Amino acid sequence: MSASILVVEDEEPIQILLSYNFEAEGYRVRATAQGEDVSHLVGEERPDLIVLDWMLPGISGIEVCRLLRARPETRDIPIIMLTARGEETERVRGLATGADDYLVKPFSVPELLARVRTILRRANPDAVAELLNAGDIVLDRKARRVTRSKRDVNLSPTEFRLLEHLMQNPGRVYSRAQLLDAVWGRDIYVDERTVDVHVGRLRKSLQRGRETDPIRTVRSMGYAFDERFGKAS
Ligand code: CA
Repeated sequence: MSASILVVEDEEPIQILLSYNFEAEGYRVRATAQGEDVSHLVGEERPDLIVLDWMLPGISGIEVCRLLRARPETRDIPIIMLTARGEETERVRGLATGADDYLVKPFSVPELLARVRTILRRANPDAVAELLNAGDIVLDRKARRVTRSKRDVNLSPTEFRLLEHLMQNPGRVYSRAQLLDAVWGRDIYVDERTVDVHVGRLRKSLQRGRETDPIRTVRSMGYAFDERFGKAS
């Protein structure tokens, strides 16, 4: 069962960005713009993590955090607080109220995803797999290491994230734009051809001799980790 995340954010573009990226990572996502909805949603199904905006139209994020921490049944749910830039004292207060972590807007999506993984791993080691396996390829998230047939595959950090992203959902086709968002982050401008360059390098690093190519190019669509890779045909 994949981890479930509750997004509480009233800025629609950010709510959409978060939901989209969490779903792409394989999490189950529910979202609301209202702090008032949180206790109902949490009662309906306890999320594994809450991403909570500080400034909400009704009751504030800090108040929501306080309410969750006050009740024994919701006390342990990890919370990542989102704050606006430069609210240094607010940040400190956010942490004091019991948020597990905070990010300052505008944040980088890969950074947020990394923090989410760290917190989920800490809270529930099974929720986030440390190792991704496919055929003879093993990706170790903790050690940031990839091996194929037990030999080390040297990858740049970007290529590592690219492979990690593709391996999380074998068979799923990602467009170049989706990969740019997930691997490079939306706040950085990179040409879509950059994706092709890095996929090319990744392929080269992964293949030795006559080894098969685990990455599938889907014409006019994008790339996928081949779901048949490593399986008997
Ligand atoms: Ca807000």
